[in-house]
Amino acid sequence: MAYKTVNPYTNEVVKEYPDATADQVENALTETHKLFKKWEQEGPETRADQLHEIASLMREDSDHLATVMVTDMGKLFREAKGEVELCAIIADYFADRGADLLKPTKLDTIATGSAQVQKHPTGTIMMVEPWNFPYYQIMRVFAPNFMVGNPMILKHASNTPGSAAAFEDVVKKSSAPDASLVNLFANYDQVSDIIADSRVQGVALTGSERGGRSVAEAAGKNLKKNTMELGGTDCFIVLDDTDIDTVSEIAWRARLYNAGQVCTSSKRFIVAANLYDQFVEKLKENFAKVKPGDPMDNATTLAPMNTKRAKEKLQSQVDEAIEKGAKVAYGNEPIDLPGQFFQPTILTDVKPDNPAYYEEMFGPVAAVYKVNSEQEAIDLANDSDLGLGGIVFSGDSKRGEKVASQIETGMVFVNNFMVSLPELPFGGVKSSGYGREMSNLGLNAFVNEQLIVTADKPNMENLAGGLVATDPE
Ligand code: NAP
Repeated sequence: MAYKTVNPYTNEVVKEYPDATADQVENALTETHKLFKKWEQEGPETRADQLHEIASLMREDSDHLATVMVTDMGKLFREAKGEVELCAIIADYFADRGADLLKPTKLDTIATGSAQVQKHPTGTIMMVEPWNFPYYQIMRVFAPNFMVGNPMILKHASNTPGSAAAFEDVVKKSSAPDASLVNLFANYDQVSDIIADSRVQGVALTGSERGGRSVAEAAGKNLKKNTMELGGTDCFIVLDDTDIDTVSEIAWRARLYNAGQVCTSSKRFIVAANLYDQFVEKLKENFAKVKPGDPMDNATTLAPMNTKRAKEKLQSQVDEAIEKGAKVAYGNEPIDLPGQFFQPTILTDVKPDNPAYYEEMFGPVAAVYKVNSEQEAIDLANDSDLGLGGIVFSGDSKRGEKVASQIETGMVFVNNFMVSLPELPFGGVKSSGYGREMSNLGLNAFVNEQLIVTADKPNMENLAGGLVATDPE
C-alpha cells in the first residue's frame, strides 16, 4: 500500500490505505462525467449555498480537521487551524462571487449581430496535490471549479491520505453531490490513464518541478489544458534604507512558517551590505529562539518536517552546499528528539558554482547573500530558473515597488509577508510553472469561454463568406 500516514513527530505508522482499484478509477470517471452533464444544464448560482455549507462544515469541525493534518505531516496545530479557516474563506469567496464572475461578457464588434463570451464548464478535472498544505491546496482548485461546474478527481500526496479522505468526507457530508470531488489513492500510471480519458478536460498540479514535468507531459500528449504550480527559490530583498528591527521580525517567520516547507517561503535573503552583518546576527538570534516539540502543543514553535525522506534530502543538500564552499552561520546540528526535526540553519557564502545557489531547499534553511547595490540585488534575485514569488523591503515603498516590478516572478510583496487569499492570483513563471489559481484568473482556468454571435437575421448584403467582411477598394 503506497498511501500511509506516518506521524513525523512520533514516527508511528498511524494508518495504511488500500490502493485505488481499476473499478474505483472507472467509477470516478463515470460519476464525475455524469455530474458534469447535469451541471452543464444548471447555473453556478445553484451551487453557491452548497459551497457555503462546505465552508461552515470545515469551521465547525476545524479541531478535528486540523488534527488530521498534524498527524499526516506534522505541521503546528495552530497553523493547521489557520489553514482550515483559510479554506473556509476561499470557499465563501467563490460561493459569493463565482456566479457574478461567470456571467457572460459583451463584446463590441463590427460583425452582424451582438457578440458575447459565455462561460461554460468543460468536464472533469484531474487534480494532483502536495502534502505541505493538505486542505488549502485542494481548496484552491476545488472552490472555483465547483462554481464553474467542473467535477474533480483528486490524487493527493501519498503521505497525506488522512487529509485527502477528510476533505472528501466534508464534501460528502454537505448537500453537494458526492461526485463533486472523488478522492482516489491512485498510482502514477492510473493518473496518466485518467488524464488520457476523454471525459477529463483539465489537469491541475501543485508540486515539484519533477512531478510537474511528468504530469504536464501526460497532459500535453493528450492535449489537456493544464496549470502547473511548482517550486520556488523566493528572494527576500532587504534594500539599504530598510528598518532592520522590523525586517528581522519578519525574516525568520518568512523562512520557518510550516517548518520552511512552503513553495513561497523566503529562501534567498539578499541583503544590502550596510545591513548584512546586523541582519545575519538577528536571524541567528531568532532562529535560536524556536522551540521544537509536539506540534499539537501551543508552546512549540518548530514543527518536524513532513517525512524522514524529506529531512534526509534536506540534510544531503546542506552537506553538499558546505562541501562546495558554503559557510554555516548558524544551525545544522542534530535535534535530540525522535521526530523528523531539522534545526533552522543559516548558510552564507553560497556562490554560483554551488548547487545550493540554484536549488530549492524545502525546509528551514536560509541562504543569506550580501549585495552592494539595488541592481545587484535584482540581478541576483533573477539569477534563478524558478520564478514563483518574492518579498522586497525598503524604507520607501515606491522604491520597493519599482524593484518588485523588476523581479521575474509571478508574485511580489513589498514591505510585507507573502499572503495567500482567494482574491489574489497565485502562480509563477519560468520553471515555477504556468497558469494561476485563485481570483478571477484561477476561476477561468478550466472554463470554455464560448463566443456566441447572434443576429436577428442574416445580413444579405454581406454573403460572400470568408473571414474578412471589408471591401479592399
Ligand atoms: P511532488 O513530489 O511533485 O508531489 C506532488 C504531488 O504530485 C503528489 O501528489 C505526488 O504523488 C504527485 N506526483 C509526483 N510525480 C507524479 C507523476 N509522475 N504522476 C502523477 N503524480 C505525481 O512534490 P513534493 O516534493 O512532494 O512537494 C513539494 C514541492 O511542491 C516543492 O517544490 C514546492 O515548492 C512545490 N509547491 C508548489 C506550490 C505552488 O503553488 N507553486 C505550492 C506548494 C508546493 P506522490 O506523493 O504519490 O509521489
